[in-house]
Amino acid sequence: MPLYADIVLPLYQPTYTFEVAEGCALSEGDAVAVQFGVKAVYTGVVWRIHDSRPDAKRIKTISQKLYDQPLLSPRQMKFWEWIADYYMCTLGEVMRVALPALIKPKGADEEEFAREQFRPRTESFVRLLGALSLDERAKLERRAPRQYELLALLEQRGEVRRAECDPAAIVALRKKGVVEVVEREVESSAIEVDVSVLPTLSESQSRALEQIISDFDKVQTVLLRGVTGSGKTEIYMHLAAQTLAEGGDVLYLVPEIAMTSQLLARIRRVFGERVTPYHSKLTNLRRSEIFHRLGCSEGGELVLGTRSALFLPICNLRLIIVDEEHDSSYKQTEPAPRYQGRDAAVMLAYLNGAKVLLGSATPSIESYVRAATGKYREVVLSERYGGAQLPEVIISDTIRAAKRGERKSHFNKVLLDKIEERLERGEQVLLFQNRRGVSPFVACESCGWTARCPHCNVSLTLHGGGRLTCHYCGYNEPQPRRCPACKSAEVMPMGFGTEKVEQEIAALFPEARVARLDRDTLTSESACNRIVEAFERGETDILVGTQIITKGFDFSRVTLVGVLNADNLLNAPDYRASERAFQTIMQFAGRGGRGEMRGEVVIQTAEPEHPVLRQVARGDYESMACEQSAERNSFFYPPYSRIVAITMRYRNAEILHRAAKGLAEELRKRFSRRVLGPTIPPVDRVRGEHIVEIMLKIESGASFARARQILREVLKEVLSPKEYRNIVTICNVDAS
Ligand code: ADP
Ligand code: ZN
Ligand code: ZN
Repeated sequence: MPLYADIVLPLYQPTYTFEVAEGCALSEGDAVAVQFGVKAVYTGVVWRIHDSRPDAKRIKTISQKLYDQPLLSPRQMKFWEWIADYYMCTLGEVMRVALPALIKPKGADEEEFAREQFRPRTESFVRLLGALSLDERAKLERRAPRQYELLALLEQRGEVRRAECDPAAIVALRKKGVVEVVEREVESSAIEVDVSVLPTLSESQSRALEQIISDFDKVQTVLLRGVTGSGKTEIYMHLAAQTLAEGGDVLYLVPEIAMTSQLLARIRRVFGERVTPYHSKLTNLRRSEIFHRLGCSEGGELVLGTRSALFLPICNLRLIIVDEEHDSSYKQTEPAPRYQGRDAAVMLAYLNGAKVLLGSATPSIESYVRAATGKYREVVLSERYGGAQLPEVIISDTIRAAKRGERKSHFNKVLLDKIEERLERGEQVLLFQNRRGVSPFVACESCGWTARCPHCNVSLTLHGGGRLTCHYCGYNEPQPRRCPACKSAEVMPMGFGTEKVEQEIAALFPEARVARLDRDTLTSESACNRIVEAFERGETDILVGTQIITKGFDFSRVTLVGVLNADNLLNAPDYRASERAFQTIMQFAGRGGRGEMRGEVVIQTAEPEHPVLRQVARGDYESMACEQSAERNSFFYPPYSRIVAITMRYRNAEILHRAAKGLAEELRKRFSRRVLGPTIPPVDRVRGEHIVEIMLKIESGASFARARQILREVLKEVLSPKEYRNIVTICNVDAS
């Protein structure tokens, strides 16, 4: 009897059925090469083998298995299925993020495919060539900490994988003739952990570690709440060392790539080559190599990665660490699967019988509530390591300052005085503004006209050089001299972004060296490193930036951080606004005073009495979390409910609105008041497509699995008419 295999391909459809060639022994989880069209070849994954012939007239045969071993274990297959089911996407969409570059795009020819797949496994290594004079070393230590760090590492080990070194440091040291880069085959011999290099824990850290270990006997997930600088990283390392010593593998997740490179050096000092960094900026080849190597590893692996590392074949996973668990970067929004990395980590751990440690100074309300209800255990570290003090918070009223004439452009006098003080003392300053560009919009002062994008319903942002740019589609045009509506010459920039802050600070402090870090200056990883390194070396005095400067960075000479406009954080149109504002400002405050000197935080606001700012000033996480969770409870917001945000996009507004109305009506029949909308979002047209939204809110008591099932059925039914077929409909589960 012929056998058939349902194959998952990196395409939208769930599975495709092929006939299995006679004599080809396939099992579930195997990778296969399948032909599609005339010459295109894909990698597919065998999902199910059965004997029921599908209806189609002609069925292709499959004969080529790619590796001796299955590519996916049964546990990984379960994990993919959970992601697809929970986040409402197809297995093919999961495959696209889960498998690195094994997949050839449609159109790759067979020969090229084979070459890619079976290339010998060589890798680049950086090797130490010569020594530096003591003088040069001392200079390096002072001026170029990253180069120095790499040098020290090389002196210890002789050679290091190139993918794991700072690229700018390699270039610089190569120029000096100190290192060379060589290519060679990789050996997969295990390397011992040198536990003697683990830092000695303070008394409160040891207590926290012991509590975590004993809590793991009772629950799967522990939440470590420790103020910034309390040494959470040290606790993670101790726990990881213990897990590795017992023969388990560890997955250490961070929310952003920028943070992997910072942490890597620190973790390497203890765990050496055993640490494998994994994120989307590695080359495709490197990522496939890691995937294959882990798949046949004998254990003792420590992977440091971003959320996509959850899909790696870590065979003996015993511990997952989720650092900065509150960070919204853990949620993938585009494209599908729109998964929340932290929550997926908890599921992955469950499937593997592993433990999860969630860590943050400001845990998400979700985790806070789960800890409060006993689902997780919570361990608290309330002091900074070595008795360092948390920064002092100064809330500065922008309206009062303006009335008293104590405001220059966008800065209150308090902030300017403190900046001046820092400049005189040779200390550094970070300034945060959560908008980039010069001004978020330009408007005519006489008739009220504003510059808008022709393709999106959004105002254009003014950037340096007088260009107006759309942040949604990239459209840009020069700023008009005269108002196109009334011909007045009063076209003025309104509000301010990071570029404006940079310009104004440079004008107010001509002697200061000012730099900016935002999406516009962050053109590449090396551009980012250049800006950060110059600041680390003290070649810049003031660094202006968006959200990115609030996270993770560890600059020892920063003693002042300034929030230029807290109001647009506090008033974001989102039920999480207060939580997010608190987290962002507290994280940012944590960047200051990490060295010997105490830090100060100046927060400019028009609402100095805002309860969240009061909580920030007291560093009072408890009352913020308590208040927010009570509010969420009374309005049925997560974690007291689950939200599915349904977004629909289409060129024809009339058809779109009809479809959305029909969908909402049908959903209401099944879900009644749990359906909200359709509503028109603040930006209701992007790239010429109109947008509407419908929200589904399912309270915790009800079956969410059943709700998703009904939603799938209703979507299929309502959107089946021909005129609706090209409407793009996206379901974002646990959207925020
Ligand atoms: P967190 O992750 O909680 O913000 P870190 O782990 O970055 O804190 O620790 C803050 C600083 O204190 C770091 O510079 C770290 O090296 C230092 N530190 C923390 N704990 C110890 C320890 N037990 N021994 C030596 N240094 C420590
Ligand atoms: Zn006008
Ligand atoms: Zn646009």
